[in-house]
Amino acid sequence: MPPVGYVYDPLYLEHEMPGHPESPARLRAIISHLEESDVLARLTKIEPRDATPDDVELLHSRELIETVRATAEKGGAWLDPDTYVAPRSYEAALRAAGGLLSATDAVLDGEVGSVFCLVRPPGHHATPTQAMGFCLFNNVALAAAHALERRGRERVAIVDFDVHHGNGSQDCFYADPRVLYVSSHQFPFYPGSGHWAETGEGPAKGTTVNLPLPRGCGREEYLRAYREVAAPLVRRFEPQLLFVSAGFDAHFADPLAQMLLDTRGYYEIASLLKELADELCEGRIVYGLEGGYDLTALAWSVHACIDTLLGDAFTEDPMGSGPAVPGPDIDAVLTAVKQAHGLNGG
Ligand SMILES: [Zn+2]
Repeated sequence: MPPVGYVYDPLYLEHEMPGHPESPARLRAIISHLEESDVLARLTKIEPRDATPDDVELLHSRELIETVRATAEKGGAWLDPDTYVAPRSYEAALRAAGGLLSATDAVLDGEVGSVFCLVRPPGHHATPTQAMGFCLFNNVALAAAHALERRGRERVAIVDFDVHHGNGSQDCFYADPRVLYVSSHQFPFYPGSGHWAETGEGPAKGTTVNLPLPRGCGREEYLRAYREVAAPLVRRFEPQLLFVSAGFDAHFADPLAQMLLDTRGYYEIASLLKELADELCEGRIVYGLEGGYDLTALAWSVHACIDTLLGDAFTEDPMGSGPAVPGPDIDAVLTAVKQAHGLNGG
């Protein structure tokens, strides 16, 4: 088993706005849980580099970079009602993006087989021209662009299981046939995009896959969506590297959303992604942390994903299974997604 890496840096704690759910306490909870459960000691630390403005310009406008830089320099401000810049946020955001770049290089250089990047601010809502939804620069999307533009890869996939649609990642690659973007998300919900009919444009038609799920979905519904739609479409695309936008706000304990996934559900989704990476990408898989706002659920769910990378069994968590209530009917939406993407059974 090749080593499993992780990225973390204390600078990630300095992006802070007291009272905001996207807080440094999130990473502190994850790190202390991984230390206490003796998982961290089994991982290889990958030092994050600082992304340069040139790196960020792989996808983002110079105006956005300058806005974030200048806002931090003058002491911080809100860029929209959800999204803040603190005095050190520009540096933290560059190192968060750089963490994903370093992780991607470490995997492509064979230094480690897989990496979990414990970074913040998160990224998947950041569009080419706009910071939004707690996100400044799109960490995972930048790493995907880096793999394509500088590391000679021809096809990469991003699977995004954050409970929110990753509108920024979708926008970055909507017309780029080299990136398969697959998102499962609560719908309708913030930010509003992510209908199944959004499938990409021009030569990239079919390379954006949206699984818009009704509120109340739990382990059973998620696993159906991943087994029946996400996995076959990833197989069909044959990516050379798999990225995961890993948000844990679909957990039943999460305060911001209304899904009922549990920690075991994250373990099972992550196991399936690991299988896909083993089958298609020589095991190469890079996780980037996105959302997740219940600290206990967040820490144990990250642990569950790392368990799959280490080849470990599921570690029982104190929160247990999601509520035993019947889930919503998702037949119609899965059929629509299958038809939109030409999958058999649609
Ligand atoms: Zn989210």
